[in-house]
Amino acid sequence: MAVEYYDFGPHKIHHSSVFHTTDISFAFVNLRPAVQGHVLVCPKRKVKRVADLTDVETIDLWRIAKKLGRQLESFHKASSLTFCIQDGPQAGQTVPHVHIHILPRKSGDYENNDDIYDDINEKEKELHQALAVDNERKDRSIEVMAIEADEYRKFLF
Ligand code: AMP
Repeated sequence: MAVEYYDFGPHKIHHSSVFHTTDISFAFVNLRPAVQGHVLVCPKRKVKRVADLTDVETIDLWRIAKKLGRQLESFHKASSLTFCIQDGPQAGQTVPHVHIHILPRKSGDYENNDDIYDDINEKEKELHQALAVDNERKDRSIEVMAIEADEYRKFLF
């Protein structure tokens, strides 16, 4: 039977937001994407830090991230990718469950390329004005997230 929710640290991710799974990992759409197509890839096992991953989990996560990155870049007509892991609270990790951020990048999406890291952390609110995609970064509804995940299920993997 299919799983209804996936654990993401303390959060429960509804299956409708999850668009790809393996025995080891799952990929899901973001509640507060920094740019269009900002998704997360996560091990099913609740692992806090990168050093706690098994080799099999590490390979599976990056294999998915590599493939998804290429597909999302093309799907969103982007021209580059930011892959990012915030490993531990002092590195900006807010959810204590390893996850790779994948962010399709386009020319002019941020005034300065590296501002995306501040935006991922939501530390500098004024950066939102520089966002070409979503100025307010509000939490999205489960319905909106399900529509995005459906699209990816149709076109990716
Ligand atoms: P980090 O700050 O690196 O730990 O990243 C946490 C990421 O998880 C951010 O991109 C959040 O927008 C995202 N996030 C937090 N809660 C949820 C949730 N319930 N569903 C989907 N994404 C979430």
